[in-house]
Amino acid sequence: MIRTRFAPSPNGPLHLGHAYAAVVAHDLARARGGEFLLRIEDIDGTRSRPELVPDIIADLEWLGLTWDGPPVFQFSRLDRYAQAADRLKAMGLLYPCQCTRADVLAAAREHGPDGPRYPGTCRGRAVDLEGAAWRLDMAKAVALAGPLEWVDQLAGPQVAMPGQFGDIVLVRKEAPASYHLAATLDDAADGITLVTRGRDLFAASHVHRLLQALLDLPVPTWHHHLLICEADGRKLAKRRGSPALADLRLAGEDGRAMAQALRMDQFPTGLYLGAGLGFEP
Ligand code: GLU
Repeated sequence: MIRTRFAPSPNGPLHLGHAYAAVVAHDLARARGGEFLLRIEDIDGTRSRPELVPDIIADLEWLGLTWDGPPVFQFSRLDRYAQAADRLKAMGLLYPCQCTRADVLAAAREHGPDGPRYPGTCRGRAVDLEGAAWRLDMAKAVALAGPLEWVDQLAGPQVAMPGQFGDIVLVRKEAPASYHLAATLDDAADGITLVTRGRDLFAASHVHRLLQALLDLPVPTWHHHLLICEADGRKLAKRRGSPALADLRLAGEDGRAMAQALRMDQFPTGLYLGAGLGFEP
């Protein structure tokens, strides 16, 4: 049975781009008699705003979407993330890192534009474990996993190329797991068979495929959909004035009609009139 999910991070209110992502995930499951789950990606303690969750739920209901079971909160799964990180540590694949953002930028600058994003400053170093982040030793991980493939329903078969990311952080200083680790574990725990999300996260799936191989997790299919952009081609963002769904809802706009328009690749007018929205080029 097909099972999809919509996994918003409550860092800001939902906008039209989120509505599109939710409708796509919902409809792909429902069209084949499958299940659709709602997962709240709330482990980023520095950005997450739990007070937005009731609005997110009300927005999705307003769009006429239904989901199976209660929403899953990442915050309830911290043990699971810690266990997976311990397993990767025991495999010798993670190392602690105390670099600050400024250190990482400085090191990357030293290696030039063609150098690695993180040149491995802390790899093989004795580092204070207190408050450290943990990075994946990418070269080791890729060698251990061997060649991997994955399939995007729209873009076709892909050869996994996680090496391009370098030694990514899997356990953050300020959060028990990075997006990559948490999302991969959650999709497996939730039995997601089709991971749907925007094309801006296409490259992340190379890393997720690698983590699935390292942690013996099932491999879903992916569906990276187009993004809705402003007239200037940039992604919708609340900070650039894209109205929040909650504002439209409270202004009495018809959410089901909006969802229906999105299904036909049309962009609602009303409060959006003149915004020149379209899909990314
Ligand atoms: N939480 C992510 C976001 O809001 C989505 C992650 C995913 O669908 O894998 O952008």
